Amino acid sequence: SLSSIEQTSNSSFIKKLKSTGRSLVVFYGSQTGTAEEFAGRIAKEGARYKMKGMVADPEECDMADLVEMKEIQKSLAIFCIATYGEGDPTDNAMDFYEWLQNGDADLEGLNYAVFGLGNKTYEHYNEIAIYIDQRLEELGATRVHEIGLGDDDANIEDDFVSWKEKLWESVCSHYGIEETGEESNIRQYKLVDCSEVLPERIFSGEISRLKSYENQRFPFDVKNPYLSKIAVNRELHKSGDRSCMHIEFDIDGSKMRYDTGDHVAVYPKNSSELVDKIGELLNADLDAVFSLLNTDEESSKKHPFPCPCTYRTALTYYSDITSNPRTHIMKELIEYASDPKDQEKLKLMASSTPEGKKEFHEWILRDNRNIVHILEDLPSVKPDLDHLCELLPRLQCRYYSISSSPKVYPKSIHITAVLVNYTTSTNRVNKGVATNLLAQLIPTNDELPQPTIPIYIRRSQFRLPPKSQTPIIMIGPGTGLAPFRGFIQERDYARKEGREIGEMVLYFGCRKKDEDFIYENELQEYVANGTLTKLHLAFSRDQPEKKYVTHLLEQNADELWNIIGEKSGHLYVCGDTRSMAKDVHSIIVKVVMEKGQMTNSQALNYVKKMEQQKRYSADVWS
Ligand code: FAD
Repeated sequence: SLSSIEQTSNSSFIKKLKSTGRSLVVFYGSQTGTAEEFAGRIAKEGARYKMKGMVADPEECDMADLVEMKEIQKSLAIFCIATYGEGDPTDNAMDFYEWLQNGDADLEGLNYAVFGLGNKTYEHYNEIAIYIDQRLEELGATRVHEIGLGDDDANIEDDFVSWKEKLWESVCSHYGIEETGEESNIRQYKLVDCSEVLPERIFSGEISRLKSYENQRFPFDVKNPYLSKIAVNRELHKSGDRSCMHIEFDIDGSKMRYDTGDHVAVYPKNSSELVDKIGELLNADLDAVFSLLNTDEESSKKHPFPCPCTYRTALTYYSDITSNPRTHIMKELIEYASDPKDQEKLKLMASSTPEGKKEFHEWILRDNRNIVHILEDLPSVKPDLDHLCELLPRLQCRYYSISSSPKVYPKSIHITAVLVNYTTSTNRVNKGVATNLLAQLIPTNDELPQPTIPIYIRRSQFRLPPKSQTPIIMIGPGTGLAPFRGFIQERDYARKEGREIGEMVLYFGCRKKDEDFIYENELQEYVANGTLTKLHLAFSRDQPEKKYVTHLLEQNADELWNIIGEKSGHLYVCGDTRSMAKDVHSIIVKVVMEKGQMTNSQALNYVKKMEQQKRYSADVWS
C-alpha cells in the first residue's frame, strides 16, 4: 500500500542523506533532550567542514541501513548516546541497542564516532555509549575519533565542547578536509506568522494532540498524559520552614493502572511571574500566535514543540526557562547584544578557552543564572523571542516514586514531594518548577473546578519480591521512604487477607523527630499491628553528634546478614542522594565479608549477584 511505501522511505535515513546531498548523520539516544540537543549542534557544525548534516532518531530509522553508509562518499555517522538509570539505553535507542547486541551486520566502510552522556555517580557510568563504540568496531566500522564521555555530575557541556573540537580535528585529518571557516549561524527553524490561524487550531499546552485534555483518550503515556484531579494535598512536616507534600492524584475512571514501586511523571508549567518577566524584558507581545517550522524539509521533526501556539504558551508549557543555559545559547545571544560589554561577556562564555570556561562556570553555573537572570543582568541583550524559543531546551516532566499500593488505593496515586526553593549567590530565590506548582494545587470542598495536572505512569524495576513471605530490608531516608510506604501498604493488605508475610525491616532517617518525621503515625501503626517487623530511626539533628541511617546499618550487621544471607531476603535503597546509596553499598559488602566469611572480591561478587537476581535494588535520584 501507499502508506507502507511512505513508511519505508521515511525510515530510510540513507535515502534521505542521498537525496539531499548530505554525508553526516547524527543519531541520538535521548531521554531528557540533552543528547538530542548535542546531536543538533554537531549536525549544524558539519557545514563548516562541507559536511551537510542531519539529525536522526534511531527509533524512527531502519538502523540496518548503516551497512549502506559506505556508498556515500566521505560519510560519517555520529552517535550521541545517553546511559539511563541503572545502565540502560534510553527508550528511543532500545531497539538499536538490541539490534547491535543480537545482529552481526557487516559495518565495514562505516565511519563513526560516539559521545556518551552519563553521570559518574552512577555505577554503570556511560555503559551504553561505551558498548556501542566497541560493538561498532567489532562489526567492522572505522572509529574516526575516540569516544567522549560526558559527566553530568560535573560539567557535561564542557566535556561535550572539548570532545567536539577534537572530533573536528580528527575528521579533518581523516578525510583530508579543511575547515571552511564559515560560521553557520543559520537558524534551524523559521518563524511563521500565524495571526490568521483559527483559535481551535492553536495549541494551549497539550503535549502532542490538539485538545487532548478536553477529549481524553486511553491509553495514557508520555505523549498522551492524563489530566488528573488533585484529590489530596497536605503538609507532612510538623514544624520547621521546609515543606514536604503528600499529594493524591485521582485516577478514578481513567483505566490507568500502576504497580507498587512505579514512578509517576508530572508535566509541570513555568510560573507566570517568570514568563511575564521575559515578555517585559524583551518588550514582546506574549499573546501573539506563532509557529516555528524546520528549515530542513527532510527532517521528521517539523516543529520544536506543538505549534502554532502563543509565546505565552511556549514559555509556560514547552520551554525550560529555569535551568542553566548551555554555552551555545551564549553564542547565539551575542548578535543580539547592543552594548559591547555585554557582547564581550557572552563571547567569553561561549569560547572554550580556560578563561571562557571559568567565566561560564562562575557566572552561569555557580551563580545559578537562568535565562531570565541573564536577560536581566545583560540588559542590552534583546533576542527575538521566536529565536529564544527555538534555543531553549524543552521543559521536562518530573518523576516521583509512587508512595501508595494499588491494592489499597486502586483509584489514586500518592506521592511524597519535597518543595524545592533555594537562594542563589546573586540573592535570587530559585523555585523548583514542579514542586512550586504542586504546592499551589490545593483541592477545595466547593463545587468549583478542582485543580488538575497532567500525569502518566512510568514502569520501574523497583519491585517487591514475587513471594510475600520473602523478608525484606528497606533503606529510605527522607523522601526515600516514598516507595516503601507503598511496599508496606501492599504487605499489610496481604496480611489482613490472611496471607503469610515475611519480615519487613525499615530504616528511616530525617533531621528531627518533631519536624520532618513524615508518616510517623502510619509507621507506628504498622509496627503495632506487626506488618513492620523493625523500624530503625536516625534523627540527624536530635543529638550533638550527627546520626544517619548508615550509622544504624553499621550497628546491625547481624540482622542484615540474617535477612540477606541466611534467609535470601531482598534489600532496597531509595533516596535523593547517590552518595547515601554508595555508602549503603559499601556497608553491605562489608557485612557480607564479615558475617558471610568472604574475601572482599567474593563479597563484591555476592552483592553483584544479588543485584542480578533483583535481590538488591536501588531507586535513587540526585
Ligand atoms: P527544578 O525546577 O527541577 O529544580 C531542581 C533543580 O534545582 C535541581 O536539579 C538542582 O539543579 C537545583 N537545585 C535544587 N536545590 C538547589 C540548591 N540548594 N542549590 C543549588 N541548586 C539547587 N522527588 C521527591 O520529592 N519525591 C520523590 O519521591 C521523588 N522521586 C523521584 C524518582 C525519580 C526516578 C526521579 C528521577 C526523581 C525523583 N524525585 C523525587 C525528584 C523530582 O523528580 C524533582 O526533581 C524534584 O521534585 C524537583 O523538581 P522541581 O521541578 O520542583 O525543581
